[in-house]
Amino acid sequence: MTLTTFEYPLEEWQALASCSGIPGTVKNMFFSEEIHEISQAKSVCASCPVISPCLKGAIEREEPCGVWGGQLFMNGKVLMIKRRRGRPSKIPRPEEQMPQIPVPEDLQDLLKTA
Ligand code: SF4
Repeated sequence: MTLTTFEYPLEEWQALASCSGIPGTVKNMFFSEEIHEISQAKSVCASCPVISPCLKGAIEREEPCGVWGGQLFMNGKVLMIKRRRGRPSKIPRPEEQMPQIPVPEDLQDLLKTA
């Protein structure tokens, strides 16, 4: 399922965001439930110059869902792994694995993980 809205906080650093130039419908990948789309969103974040303030804001707002600052949020917590629906593969396929984006050191204490 792909969510159809992309809400982005109006912050001063928004113009520097790597996702700011992405067309609207493509931005839906930041709120997708599909692992390959979540991985694409995380890959955009990986080279974003404002990853730290973006992640900090998401932590403070306890984002209910979406990829923010390179991390996948669910109910205000960061999900380190996300499984596909159905029975998990005995041997994980590459498309089932999300890239792990390092959390900036200054934010590690703020992070809640599920
Ligand atoms: S870290 Fe990701 S979600 Fe946040 S501004 Fe950058 S590209 Fe967008």
